Amino acid sequence: MSDRPVVLVLGAGFGGIGVISKLKKAPVDIVLVDQHDYHTFRPLLYQVATDVLEPTTVGYPIRSFVDRQKNLSFTKATVTGVDLENQVVSFSDWEPQHYDYLVVALGGKANFLNISGAEEHSFPLYTLNDAVKLRQHVLTKFEAANKSHELVEAGALNVVIVGGGPTGVETAGAMAELYYSSLARDFPGLPVADASITLVEYGDRLLTMFDQGLSDYTKEALEERGVTVRLGESVTEIKADSVTLNSGQTLDAHTTVWGAGLSAVTLASALSDDLQHGRVPTEPMLHLAGRPEVFVIGDLAWTTDTKTEKVLPQLGSVALQAGEHVGKTIDRMTRKHKEPEPFSYFDKGSMATIGRKAAVAALPPDIHLTGMPAALVWGSVHLALLSGAENRAVAMTNWSFAYMHHDRPSRIIIDLEDED
Ligand SMILES: Cc1cc2nc3c(=O)[nH]c(=O)nc-3n(C[C@H](O)[C@H](O)[C@H](O)COP(=O)(O)OP(=O)(O)OC[C@H]3O[C@@H](n4cnc5c(N)ncnc54)[C@H](O)[C@@H]3O)c2cc1C
Repeated sequence: MSDRPVVLVLGAGFGGIGVISKLKKAPVDIVLVDQHDYHTFRPLLYQVATDVLEPTTVGYPIRSFVDRQKNLSFTKATVTGVDLENQVVSFSDWEPQHYDYLVVALGGKANFLNISGAEEHSFPLYTLNDAVKLRQHVLTKFEAANKSHELVEAGALNVVIVGGGPTGVETAGAMAELYYSSLARDFPGLPVADASITLVEYGDRLLTMFDQGLSDYTKEALEERGVTVRLGESVTEIKADSVTLNSGQTLDAHTTVWGAGLSAVTLASALSDDLQHGRVPTEPMLHLAGRPEVFVIGDLAWTTDTKTEKVLPQLGSVALQAGEHVGKTIDRMTRKHKEPEPFSYFDKGSMATIGRKAAVAALPPDIHLTGMPAALVWGSVHLALLSGAENRAVAMTNWSFAYMHHDRPSRIIIDLEDED
């Protein structure tokens, strides 16, 4: 054991990866912990669910970061508690660990908003497991329907997607392309063109982070691809084979995708008595009030931007920049012996894809793009952010293949419970 300060980083998502990247020269021992041995690139989960990318392209081995950084070690373990007084973190499957600096970057989890049946019967899209489960489910429904056309009449091929934010929109567009191109060709005996894909959004427009023009474009582009968009509707009950809306209408659908809500992890309450919408309030330097050695970042944090005075959104770009800031802060304190500085978010813009040649992007100061230009910006930004040169090459190849052939290279069922 060295006598250097221990920096314990909980979570190897965007926030955690940001922290370690700025501590390469710091005289500290970094202990990175995650319940998985891979970093999940959540913005592309919907592409795993709709057979464009393999799970390994979106999940990057965390140990690859350790290979490249001498002061970093990684342990796969699940955090269960934080004792702020004694500076100790406990785990379900590892001995308690002491820290000198703690960075909590544990993200969030799906929030089913207490809607009856949502947790049991819908498919969230928050983890790599979620994406793989959804993909297996859809392909399994097609195989079953191919053997029994009664299932088709009962709605086995219909999909309802709940939530008109980026997750819902991107999934709806990609699902429509999977259905009406690849699966329609794969299952010529099934009436795939009649299968419905319905996107349900409570508000009066999609993608509310964009202006009305981009929201309208998104709705039209989805409808052109065969998606039914239901605005001003909410879901009141989800069953294995149907979804009921607040208007009283019941849609027969054996697949419901949940893209409507996010809540903080249970551990948040160990960090603050004053949670804001389940998130942990932080000081401008991103630490807990009265605890300059404990930083909370990313989706778990409730951070007010020092420049705009607005609460920062739960975005990968926010988590990454906050993580980098905390890494620099600890480096300043331990190596440069300087005071920490407040965090300020640099907004590089927002974007979402809808499908082939269709996307929206809003870039500062006031550039709004749609169609192919937006799709190219989206592709370049996501390629740049994806971890690992090999993953970038694979994503590029699969996107080109899907674009040129209207096809999905990864549409196979891998049944892990099948013993043969
Ligand atoms: C489907 C989807 C699409 C998205 N698209 C975009 C997009 O296009 N652009 C964008 O900017 N943002 C996007 N986001 C948001 C972005 O992914 C999040 O804001 C970002 O991942 C938050 O980073 P984080 O570090 O706070 O948490 P995460 O990236 O969620 O990382 C948290 C880590 O903590 C680990 N963990 C959690 N609990 C425990 C525990 N008890 N013990 C040990 N480890 C634990 C998890 O395994 C995970 O690795 C999307 C999110 C989703 C779900």
